[in-house]
Amino acid sequence: KDLFKKSEVEAALTAAYDNYKGLQEGKNADYIPALAKVDPKVFGIVLVTADGKVYTKGDVTTEVSIQSISKVFTMAKVIDESGTDAILNNQGVDATGQAFNSIVAIEQNRGAEMNAMVNPGAIAATSMVKGANYDEIWSKILGYYNDFAGRHLTVLDEVYQSEAASNQRNQAIGRLMYAYGKIKADPDRATDIYTRQCSVGVNAKDLAMMAATLANGGKNPVTGKQALKTENVPEVLAVMATAGLYDDSGKWLYKTGLPAKSGVGGGIIAVSPGKFGIAVISPPLDGAGNSVRAQKAIADISNALGGNPLAAQ
Ligand code: GLU
Repeated sequence: KDLFKKSEVEAALTAAYDNYKGLQEGKNADYIPALAKVDPKVFGIVLVTADGKVYTKGDVTTEVSIQSISKVFTMAKVIDESGTDAILNNQGVDATGQAFNSIVAIEQNRGAEMNAMVNPGAIAATSMVKGANYDEIWSKILGYYNDFAGRHLTVLDEVYQSEAASNQRNQAIGRLMYAYGKIKADPDRATDIYTRQCSVGVNAKDLAMMAATLANGGKNPVTGKQALKTENVPEVLAVMATAGLYDDSGKWLYKTGLPAKSGVGGGIIAVSPGKFGIAVISPPLDGAGNSVRAQKAIADISNALGGNPLAAQ
């Protein structure tokens, strides 16, 4: 028996799409020059159920850069390779109360007591992926993302070049984390691999598949590939719930109960464990850095389908 009725899911996606496609709030991120050029009208919604049914609405083929959503999967890789204590003991799993690229957040606890969804913790996570050299580490990270997405993803080179030329702040963050002993490898290499991982191109379907893999105990529900060890899924979702939507993570959890992660490319993924993964791409962001349409569409769809994992079933 199917987890969800086809007509109910289709109705929820159509309603959200129709309600928000005309919404003109927010604006593209522009601190990475290439992101300002992305068509703000791109709007795609995909929901993949934990039993592998794929529902789509709108633009599901245009690729945007994954940006911070990548942080979830690199952290998951580190947890898979090195155990749950590795992240806990190095960058921590707590909210910082500071912006995602805050230097103050590093200073307040000498590089500790943060999490892998903010840049210092994320660049440190990238530095923790095991490998003999740049290429080996990079191909492990990309291969891991591919297992979640169920296809071969590639880097959007223009985005990578644009961010690599303008990421002096992240370079400073990497070096500061090195100075505090939280990055033990070459910090410039870690920041560059992090920049590359943020430039991976994804469409709404890729992101929904990645989210659905988390919803399905780490196993891609369409390809059947076990991407992440099932026992490590709860820790990954916990960090998403704590810090997935920048400074609005608490508000988001309050409204939806869903572990989620946004990126400045305009994507958001959200996970209803055992039920579905959902992703929306729409580049214009609100003041907190989260896609305006994506937040509204995901909240409506999840609430229509009973997706809140904190609600009694
Ligand atoms: N590559 C971006 C940065 O480090 C990611 C930001 C984001 O999506 O939050 O600034």
